[in-house]
Amino acid sequence: MPRLSAEVLALRDEIVALRRDLHRHPELAWNERRTAEQVQAFLKGSPLAVRAGVGGTGVVAEAGRGRGPTLLLRVDMDALPIQEDSRAAHASEVPGTMHACGHDGHVAMGAAAARIAAGLGPPGTLRMLFQPAEEGEGGAQAMVAAGVMDGVDVASGVHLWNELPVGTLGVRAGPLMAAVDRLRIVVRGRGGHGGKPHRSADPVVAAAHVITALQTIVSREVSPTQAAVVTLGSVHGGQAFNVIPDEVTLTGTIRTFDAELRRSMPARVARVASGIAEGLGGRAEVEVRAGNPPVVNDPAVAEMARRAAVRVVGEENVVEPEPTMGGEDMAVYFERAPGCFVFVGSANPGRGLDQPHHSPRFDFDEDALLVGTQFLLEMAKEALG
Ligand SMILES: [Zn+2]
Ligand SMILES: [Zn+2]
Repeated sequence: MPRLSAEVLALRDEIVALRRDLHRHPELAWNERRTAEQVQAFLKGSPLAVRAGVGGTGVVAEAGRGRGPTLLLRVDMDALPIQEDSRAAHASEVPGTMHACGHDGHVAMGAAAARIAAGLGPPGTLRMLFQPAEEGEGGAQAMVAAGVMDGVDVASGVHLWNELPVGTLGVRAGPLMAAVDRLRIVVRGRGGHGGKPHRSADPVVAAAHVITALQTIVSREVSPTQAAVVTLGSVHGGQAFNVIPDEVTLTGTIRTFDAELRRSMPARVARVASGIAEGLGGRAEVEVRAGNPPVVNDPAVAEMARRAAVRVVGEENVVEPEPTMGGEDMAVYFERAPGCFVFVGSANPGRGLDQPHHSPRFDFDEDALLVGTQFLLEMAKEALG
């Protein structure tokens, strides 16, 4: 059983109610206005300095007596463009929009931890961030541009994690989540009549070879002991069954941990795509847009997080999760201050609460909210003394 403080237990119903309210009213990236209002309402009356409209729809709540270190804790607020497939009473009431990653729970944990911490009046400064637009939309960059990293000594954050059972916490030093870069390739040829292919340069056939050849970057060029992914997620070209189009557009994602490998990937993709397309009478335009860097946990902060986690769930329930090729914009804060991102186990297979994140049937065990709230408070004790 997790060790939960009286303050956390006393807020249990309010934490769950806030999470369910946000789940019923999910908002997409940059539109988290109602969510931000609910956060402010939850924090009202606490001795916190609250600022709204930070980096767009973000909210920052600060507690503490100043003097001493500053700990940044961050939770994210955005939902996903997914139609929820659930019969739960708290299912989304917004068609096509759903909290399928658990960010509703993150907001509830962050709000509860901020309120409790404010009551305790920690030494130093606890800065709780409610960040918009985590799902690949640049929310962290906007918050950083708004100055939230000023004076920060240590950063941390949590993610509910359905790959771990409820009652566990996942702490790992070093690389945890991958760098995420976006890839777009336009294979150009010369369109024509489907019955007279010799008079055109077929970009569909060229794109098919490009797609296949790109798989050899990871399998033949990258060291087998290094992690890398090249995935093409969309292929668009042509309108009619009997017409060769002028171009085919491919989009995808490149995932890596190692900085040098990451830097080398755009040139590798361009070389393969251009070489293949030109060999087949066309050409390829390759564009790689840098996304979030990898989440790399600082060893010293990870040790603080481990101690905090042990106090909440006991040594036997603190696990070292495998690194994942998923991405997280928490990495943007960790570029500016040492930090540790922690997974809060939230799966309960016995109750059917173990669907993967981003699934239309995603849901989690709400007991995880109490564990996560307690962890954030213990982390504050570790970092602020
Ligand atoms: Zn997500
Ligand atoms: Zn997420």
